[in-house]
Amino acid sequence: MPMYIADYKKFDVINGKGLRHSLFTSGCTHHCKGCFNAATWNFSYGTPYTKELEDRIIADLNMPDVKIAGLSILGGEPFQNVEVLSPLISRVRRECPGKDIWIWSGYTFEEIIADANKLKLLLDCDVLIDGKFMLEERNLKLKWRGSNNQRVIHIQESLIAGQAISYE
Ligand code: SF4
Repeated sequence: MPMYIADYKKFDVINGKGLRHSLFTSGCTHHCKGCFNAATWNFSYGTPYTKELEDRIIADLNMPDVKIAGLSILGGEPFQNVEVLSPLISRVRRECPGKDIWIWSGYTFEEIIADANKLKLLLDCDVLIDGKFMLEERNLKLKWRGSNNQRVIHIQESLIAGQAISYE
C-alpha cells in the first residue's frame, strides 16, 4: 500500500532541535483522545508519498546555504508506515552525513524494540518521542511532546543500554 503524507514542512523549528524539515505521515490506529491531528488517522489522508518527494527531502537536507540539523518524522503513526519510511531513512543515513533523524510514535520504546519490523525503523534514528498522547496528562509546557507520559529518548544510547535513556 502506498504511503500518504499529511504534510511536508521545510524550516521547522518546533519539532526537534535546530532548523529541520518535517514529514507528517498519514495513518494511525491509536486514536488517542484529544489527538492534535485526528485527520491523519486516515491512511489515505493528504497526498501520496513519491520518489520525487523523497529526492526533494534528500536535496533539502543537503541545501548548501542553510545549516539544516536533520529530518523529523511525525504522524499519524510513522511506525505503521515502516515499509516506505525504511528506504527514506536509509537514504538520509547514506546521503546526508551529519543530519540527525527524530521520530515520533504512539508506541513506547519498549513496544517498538519488541517488534522486529518496528525496530528496523528505529535502528537508524537518533531521537524518539514515544507514547500515546494522554489528555489527562496534557502539559503545554513540555518541549516536543504533549503529555507527561511521553518521553524524549536517545535511541542509540537506549539500544546499547537495553532500556530507555532520556535525550536531555
Ligand atoms: S499517536 Fe499521535 S496521531 Fe495517533 S492518535 Fe495519538 S496523538 Fe494522534
